Amino acid sequence: MDTIDELVANNRRFAESLPARHLDVRPSRRLAIVTCMDSRLDVFAALGLSDGEAHVLRNAGGVITDDVIRSLAISQRRLGTREVMLVHHTDCGMQTLTDDGFRAELQEATGVAPAFAIESFSDVGSDVRQSILRVRRSAFLPHRDQVRGFVYDVDSHRLDEVHVEGED
Ligand SMILES: [Zn+2]
Repeated sequence: MDTIDELVANNRRFAESLPARHLDVRPSRRLAIVTCMDSRLDVFAALGLSDGEAHVLRNAGGVITDDVIRSLAISQRRLGTREVMLVHHTDCGMQTLTDDGFRAELQEATGVAPAFAIESFSDVGSDVRQSILRVRRSAFLPHRDQVRGFVYDVDSHRLDEVHVEGED
């Protein structure tokens, strides 16, 4: 049995173990979280969240791409969220590559240079600061006063807040 078959079987048991219910589509904590796709970060468990409480947007690196801004715009303008929490983490895969190197690798393998930016980073703290600023500067988002960034340590499971220079 391959992995996906196994997960589908897990879901059957999961669904049978729970009563049916309906939660509001709008997150009850009015919060959107942007984080990395990393397999060691269980966002809901690590932050004490439950179903229905927050939006979670994930990509390689937790990067604030145009598509993340698109999702945040919908999250805030249609689904009522007000705060944005950015969570990067230690030992990120994005620190193992460079933009130029990975772009060249893709072009060499396929003959096509990607249209998207790679967005690798070496210093996780500075990347969180950049991400905070990108969110705060996006005019598509009506709620930009509660934007905070953190680094999650994948070994100790602890969050450390990252502050933008000139702020507390
Ligand atoms: Zn990562």
